[in-house]
Parts: sequence; C-alpha cells; structure tokens
Amino acid sequence: MSDDRTSSRLVGLRDYPKLAEQDQTVVWHPYTQMQEYAETEPIIIDRGEGPYLYDVRRRRFLDAYGSMWCNVWGHNHPELVKAIQQQAGQLCHASLFSVSHVPAIDFANMLVDAIKQDFRFADEAPSLSHVFYSDNGSTAVEVAMKMALQYQNQIGKISRTQFLTFHSGYHGDTFGAMSASNIDVFTQKFSPSLFKCHRATYPMQVDPDEHESTRHHEMQLEALIAGRNDKIAAVVIEPVVQGASGMRPLAEDYLGKIKKYCREYDILLITDEVFAGFCRTGPLIASSAELVEPDIICLGKGITGGTMPMGVTVANDRVFDAFKGVWKDFRQFLHGHTYSGNPLACAVAIRNLEMIYEEKLKENVKSRSRELNYALKRVIGSHPRVGQIRVRGLAVGIPLLDESGSEDGGYESRADANKVCLHAVEKSRVLLRPLGNVITIVPPLNIESEQIEEIVNAIAKALEVLDTPGE
Ligand SMILES: *Cc1c(COP(=O)(O)O)cnc(C)c1O
Repeated sequence: MSDDRTSSRLVGLRDYPKLAEQDQTVVWHPYTQMQEYAETEPIIIDRGEGPYLYDVRRRRFLDAYGSMWCNVWGHNHPELVKAIQQQAGQLCHASLFSVSHVPAIDFANMLVDAIKQDFRFADEAPSLSHVFYSDNGSTAVEVAMKMALQYQNQIGKISRTQFLTFHSGYHGDTFGAMSASNIDVFTQKFSPSLFKCHRATYPMQVDPDEHESTRHHEMQLEALIAGRNDKIAAVVIEPVVQGASGMRPLAEDYLGKIKKYCREYDILLITDEVFAGFCRTGPLIASSAELVEPDIICLGKGITGGTMPMGVTVANDRVFDAFKGVWKDFRQFLHGHTYSGNPLACAVAIRNLEMIYEEKLKENVKSRSRELNYALKRVIGSHPRVGQIRVRGLAVGIPLLDESGSEDGGYESRADANKVCLHAVEKSRVLLRPLGNVITIVPPLNIESEQIEEIVNAIAKALEVLDTPGE
C-alpha cells in the first residue's frame, strides 16, 4: 500500500505551514474556538482507507469518532466509491421538485421494505411508507416538525402548535431543531429567537440489566401532556440513546410508555434517529428494538455509509393522507431543498443498505459492542476518575469524575476529557472527541477487534495524564 502516493503529491505542491495558516484563518470550523485553533498544528486529512485517516504529513490516525458519527464502512470503501462513480457518470443531480429519478425511487422503496423487516415482530405491519428527502440531519428533524404542524392544521386541530421534547436532547442546529434541543450551551445565545417547547425528563439507564422504576418520570410526562393535549402537535425524542449530551441511554421500555400516552392523547410521535438509527445502536430503525412504531422517523448520519450528505424523514399513512387534496386546497407539504434526494447520495445509500444485509453489519455491531464494553470495563473501569461507562451498540460514553468522585454534568467542564482526548490523538493517533466531560467512542460500524483494542489502549494510556485522588 503506498501511504505517501497522494500525500507526496499534495505536500510536494503545498507546504504544510502555508496550508495550516490558510486553514486557520480562512476555513471557519464548526464548534471550534478559532483563536485557540490558530495556535495548534491542525490535522489536515489527505485521504482515508478503512478505519484510518492519513494526513498531509503522512501520519495515520484511527477514526474512533467515525468522522462525526456517520461512518459505517471505514473510509473510501471500494463498493461505495464505485456506487458514487457509476452514478456520477450517469446523472449527478436532477431535482425532485418537477421530475423524479431512479435512485430516489429505489432507495425510498428499499428503505420502506427495510423498515417493514425491522418491525416484522410487531402486532401490525408498519405504515411508515412515505419518504421525504432532505440533505442533513437537522433538516430531517425540521421537516418532521413542519410535517407535524401542517398535519394538525389540516386535520382541523389548529390549536396544536407546540412540541413536547426532552431534557438534554439534541436535534440539530437549525432553528426548529435548536428549539427542540435542550443543551443550553449550544442554544442559550439564541434563546430569544427560539420557540418554547415543553420538556419532559429523559430517564437514563446505564446498565441494561438493572431495572429501576421510571414511574415518577412517567407521571411527570403524563402531567405535561394531560393538561395540554389540545396544544401539543408532536413528541420529539432521541430513541435508545441521547448522543450529543454525552451518550445517555434511555431506560428500557420507556419509549413504549411515551407511545402509549401519544396514542391516548392523539399526539404524533417523532423519533429522531439521525444518530441512533442505521445500526449505530443495533437495528436499522432504533425504535424497532422496542417494537415502538413512531408516526415519523428522522434519519441521517450513517444513511449513506458516511460518504454523502443526506437526510430522510419517513411518515406513516395517517400523516401522508392529511396532505392529499387538489392544488387549490393548498394542502401539499410546504417544504423542499434544492438538493433533496440528490442522486449521488441516493445511489450510495442504496449500496450502503444492501451491504448492511450482505455483510451482516448488525451482528458485527452486536459483537464489537460487547467486546468494547468488556474491554473498557476491564482496562479502565476501576480507574478512580472513570464513572459508569455507557454503551449502546457502537455509541460509547465514558464520563470522567472530578477529584471528589462525582460526575459533573456541565458541558463547559470539559477540561479533563479534552486533555485525555488530545493525548490519545497526539500520542496514540486515535481520533477521539470529548462531549463535556465525557469521552465518546463512535467508530465505523464495521470496525474489527484489533482496532477496538487500539482505542481502549489509547484511552488507558491517555488517562494517565489525569491527577488521581490520593496522589
Ligand atoms: C447529528 C444529529 C442531528 C443533526 O444532524 P446534522 O446532519 O449534523 O445536521 C440531529 N439529531 C441527532 C440525534 C443527531 O445526533
């Protein structure tokens, strides 16, 4: 394998210090303090292969954060590259506003079949069979929320204009998604411009075997709904695990309880599976793990295997039917993006979905998850600064404790987790990111045991930078 083939091309033409300076001054990076970034030596990626990314300085990094949680097959999997290349030779873009194209039709149908497959043990076959395309996770959520509002309006429930969401939720960075979110440090500077949402508690269950009663959460939820069911259009929730607030697993069975109240009070259930879906936590459709059928599902991140931007919002018959009419009724869904259903994204999404079954991806997620859970507990579980490790599929949160042994939930208090992640990046070349004071691991879903070991060892070594009580 010629590691320096492309690198030498780039570095031969462009020297690193110049590239770094141009990056630090012209490219404005997301969620990044650019003043501090200007003082670092940025990692400038040149190419990717399998779970590894190679930078222009010819260093190899293990992508343990899955390029912001979307990577499924490692980088540049030949099958996915081929799907994009073939499609590019035929049609790069045509807009679903006026015409249609084969990749959009094929992927929508495959997805609907896959959803049926995931819900095959449910009492009724799901009617989630209407696929609305957009181009990222935030828009998938935005679309779902607008669908819910327009749905309520068009069935005559015009007072139902509000949403019930959850503490510490994250749904994206556009205004509707920000309003539904509840991580204050992300949104407080915009709060005067956000609309208010009702917030229920999100009962966390770290150990899948320990069953604590969620009765008081349920009572709070019902009280929130019962008083206001003529006002609430939909419930919006991250099923299985809240990602951005630090990998917080939802208590088992709780999604079913939420669904029960939604049904009782005739409120739509929207599951934001942008992170939890597409096998990140096991099944393709995360809510199918509990056989809870939402009215609307939001998908993104892994949907194209981590190659192209795409968001999808899937609605059931009940929602879809409320938009039927003739033009002058003006009941058509009032939303669309220029690149909605981009053929390149659809083509690679098709190949990704095929490979999920061909390669038995769900089984790999299950085995590697068990392995990672076991290895982390064995190697770092008793470290005095490590709290209770949370694992759902290949989404892992390792909360760090402060020196008095308590878990500080504050997002600002990331100093220690940041120190550990930086050490892992610099010394072990394992790319990790902190969320607040939680170290997260979100690797490609086809990861192998060898890389699991590499990640665990890097974290174990990096933890040595922390002061431990009694030292
Ligand atoms: C990442 C994420 C989003 C936003 O997706 P983008 O593609 O980053 O806009 C929405 N919801 C959840 C649960 C996410 O994890």
